[in-house]
Amino acid sequence: MVDRVYNFSPGPATLPYEVLQKAGKDVVNFQETGIGLIEISHRSKEFMAVVDETEKNLRELLNISDNYRVLFLQGGASSQFFMIPMNFLGGGQKATYLNTGTWAKKAIKEAGLFGDIDVPFSGEKSNFNRVPKDLEFDVAENSQYLYFVSNNTIYGTQFSSFPKKEKMLICDMSSDILSRPIDIEKFGLIFAGAQKNLGPAGVTIVIIREDLLDRAPESTPAMLSYRTHADKGSMFNTPPCFAIYVVGEVLKWLKNMGGVEVIEKRNIEKANLLYDAIDIDDYYRGHAERGSRSLMNISFNLPSAELEGKFINRAAALGLSGLKGHRSIGGCRASIYNAFPLEGVEKLVAFMAKFKDENPV
Ligand SMILES: *Cc1c(COP(=O)(O)O)cnc(C)c1O
Repeated sequence: MVDRVYNFSPGPATLPYEVLQKAGKDVVNFQETGIGLIEISHRSKEFMAVVDETEKNLRELLNISDNYRVLFLQGGASSQFFMIPMNFLGGGQKATYLNTGTWAKKAIKEAGLFGDIDVPFSGEKSNFNRVPKDLEFDVAENSQYLYFVSNNTIYGTQFSSFPKKEKMLICDMSSDILSRPIDIEKFGLIFAGAQKNLGPAGVTIVIIREDLLDRAPESTPAMLSYRTHADKGSMFNTPPCFAIYVVGEVLKWLKNMGGVEVIEKRNIEKANLLYDAIDIDDYYRGHAERGSRSLMNISFNLPSAELEGKFINRAAALGLSGLKGHRSIGGCRASIYNAFPLEGVEKLVAFMAKFKDENPV
């Protein structure tokens, strides 16, 4: 194995080593065709088979029924912030959004360009250290959907269970898709940029209920209408071939591992190790309230910004990379998505104990 460090980066993020190795080989010569993976036609039978298998495995892993379509789109998760209201709020209809952090806020701003947006909960006052409970907000009857972000990548908060309202849910699962089983039927649409938990940057997975494909107003540009991409099997134009291929390999890896139930257990084990290290005393302070803690991104502070800087540098020197928190909250953040190994978390926890001993306050 080459010299790899433990990469705690929030995204693009660490991928299974065997996936990287196979991709490296296929980039040069894809399935012995004599053509590299990033050179081969997206309409070749070899590449079409990759797309089909990737969709099949995603359906199997998430238990997606036939009345949902799976799309592979470009423009990042951020393009879904406008595609969703553009397709679903024609004529300025109402939708409900929960403001649980930076990504929710950006989606709310874009939705406001198309519809009448209700925001019955905002975590802004407490710097987004928690997600709401069902009792804390109402959804208007004439609202078309309830939009939320299942895992708030920056603040390290996560919905441990989803809102139980009589309303179609739309969810940004960019940073926790496939980290646990979900009940697809509750959702009208789920989307996820690949670069956190699925693969490289460049492809966004959209899972959309079939009856929603025809909601877009006539004036919607073809590229921005879900119907276009559903009708053409995500091949209306050239899809992000390389990114789709890597997602496909990550899904195979996940299947071999035992699927989402198995990975969920591992994710809980990894996160608990870290939260236990944080909870031991008040040297390390978790940003998220206990009931809202994320299994994917663990954001925490040290007693001072100076110690945080020192901590991040020392850790990096030991091969624990990417621990700097997002600029909007500072401090540290350990992103430990599906592919992040348990040994890396153990190494970080040991380092945290040592650093605390050597740097008392
Ligand atoms: C990273 C992230 C995004 C933005 O993704 P892009 O692909 O860069 O547009 C959106 N939502 C969540 C929850 C994220 O973590």
